[in-house]
Amino acid sequence: MAIDRKNRSGIALAPSPTVKDTEAFEQTLRPKRLNEYIGQGAIKSHVLVHVQAARTRSEPLGHTLLHGPPGLGKTTLAYILAQEMGCSLRIASGPGIEKPGDLASLLTNLAQGDILFIDEIHRMRPAIEEVLYSAMEDYALDLVIGKGPSARSMRLELKPFTLVGATTKIGSMSAPLRDRFVHQFKLAFYEPAEMRQIVDRTAGILGVPMQEGAAHRIACSARATPRIANRLVRSVRDFAQVGGESTISVERVETTLGALGIDDRGLDRTDRAILESIIAKFAGGPVGLSTLAAVTSEEEETLEDVYEPYLMQQGFLQRTPKGRIVTKLAYELLGMRVPEGVQGTML
Ligand code: ADP
Repeated sequence: MAIDRKNRSGIALAPSPTVKDTEAFEQTLRPKRLNEYIGQGAIKSHVLVHVQAARTRSEPLGHTLLHGPPGLGKTTLAYILAQEMGCSLRIASGPGIEKPGDLASLLTNLAQGDILFIDEIHRMRPAIEEVLYSAMEDYALDLVIGKGPSARSMRLELKPFTLVGATTKIGSMSAPLRDRFVHQFKLAFYEPAEMRQIVDRTAGILGVPMQEGAAHRIACSARATPRIANRLVRSVRDFAQVGGESTISVERVETTLGALGIDDRGLDRTDRAILESIIAKFAGGPVGLSTLAAVTSEEEETLEDVYEPYLMQQGFLQRTPKGRIVTKLAYELLGMRVPEGVQGTML
């Protein structure tokens, strides 16, 4: 789901659509069925087996946890699971469920076999989480009604359902909650060929004709992330439209990416500022997350969820027990001399 993020990345320079507008845009582009969902091959084959098995037994799918960086397709997969199971999907977000009563109302409104999708499940309040345990395990809700001596507990029976949880931070989830998910899938960054398919698909749906090299260039600059690919196609389309062009050329992509501060590896100004700060202010690291957040004026959560996963995947940054350090590749990227003893990626 679209999460409102504060950052000073180049992407924020694009005409800023409203949250509603962004959601409608994402909805248009979401693949509806598993066979339209590009990449994540291992997950798709597992999902197919579990869906077929559950349908044959006329049972719910089984609680499913989807984790990985934002924009990789967790919400999309939740929609697809509902489609493939032929059931309804209700959507909620972890921090949005404020009281046990909110959870009760979501759960009691589910029909047999329906899916409840909870995005950002790691941000759910502990009191709500505890209520969820019995719902997940026994399809029952144990609620305490009233306060003080007159308080009494009540058990509400639920229809068998599937909880699909999504999180960018599986490490922040409590073990009891995590362990109650039967299926757990980690979404990976997309391969270049898959990104290319995603760009072509998006351009097709939006009716944006592209020259051969143009789609390739967008695919390479989208941080291996479908949501970013979609946004870039949209930005490029807008720039081309204003420039009076009917087909997207490579030059148009180059100038748009340049205006957005995105380089040919998909890194934006914030990525480079993060690496530069670690090098210039902390001699390459290690530096703690909170210090890094302060010097880059980013929120800790944004650094951890949005920026670091891709910088690590590309081998520019490493998380060590003492803090973040940059690698040899980061110095090379920024055209700086690599000091003695600085390593490449240690995997
Ligand atoms: P998340 O929930 O992980 O943040 P989303 O599921 O909201 O990510 O995905 C963002 C957008 O990326 C979707 O609107 C969809 O258009 C696109 N997308 C995600 N995964 C895929 C995929 N596997 N194939 C094609 N498009 C995808």
